[in-house]
Amino acid sequence: MLAELIAAKEHAEESDRLKSAFLANISHEIRTPMNGILGFSALLKEAYLSGEEQAEYVDLIEQSGLRMLNLINDLIDISRIEAGETKLQITPTPVNKVLRDLQAFFIPAISKKKLQLHCAPGLPDTESIIETDSGKLAQILTNLIQNALKFTRTGTIDFGYTKQGFTLEFYVTDSGIGIPDSMQQTIFDRFRQVDNTLTRNHEGSGLGLSISKAYVTMLGGTIHVKSRECTGSTFSFTLP
Ligand code: ADP
Repeated sequence: MLAELIAAKEHAEESDRLKSAFLANISHEIRTPMNGILGFSALLKEAYLSGEEQAEYVDLIEQSGLRMLNLINDLIDISRIEAGETKLQITPTPVNKVLRDLQAFFIPAISKKKLQLHCAPGLPDTESIIETDSGKLAQILTNLIQNALKFTRTGTIDFGYTKQGFTLEFYVTDSGIGIPDSMQQTIFDRFRQVDNTLTRNHEGSGLGLSISKAYVTMLGGTIHVKSRECTGSTFSFTLP
């Protein structure tokens, strides 16, 4: 009983620490884009700006707005998941089309970082229709590709799927910074980041992977990561 009590106490303390780190992170994630929006709006008021400068400032304001919207969407998703209020919409889903749409969506960001994005559907279009929630599938892959993009400086991001019996195994592989062995399980927990200091180089709330894991589980699959530091990571998940 004593051992159980000690374990429960440690768990509660760890949750408390995580929540504090989360609050600090969220504040940072709101303040940084907010400073961007306010700062560049003020700059736009300057009288003599070239068209190029104006376009650049408007672009930065837009990016900051998007970053805040992403954070808010993640917060809404995680609260729905925790309240057990996430609903699935299972329909016949053309997997290859979902993949192609994602590839088109990511091309501008990929080109901007001078990376490559390869998409490898594992079945012909006519055979690649499965019963699942297409929106959730797209969201899981978006989260994984976005992370791959965020944590990769040079090289390639590959994504696709293979058919294994009655399951499709999806993957997103990058040639990025990789994840230390000791963190490969915990990153799927809420608010967990390999680097959660406020001086970290990468933005993010630490919610994307826990949302993805919850969705994969709801859709009847499992999610895993294989990774080597400084070499890259492969996130894979199955769907029936
Ligand atoms: P966020 O990206 O918003 O921090 P996630 O839940 O998506 O939150 O990811 C949690 C953490 O897992 C990231 O902060 C990062 O440390 C690590 N991570 C996720 N994907 C990758 C990747 N492809 N390469 C390296 N690290 C990753």
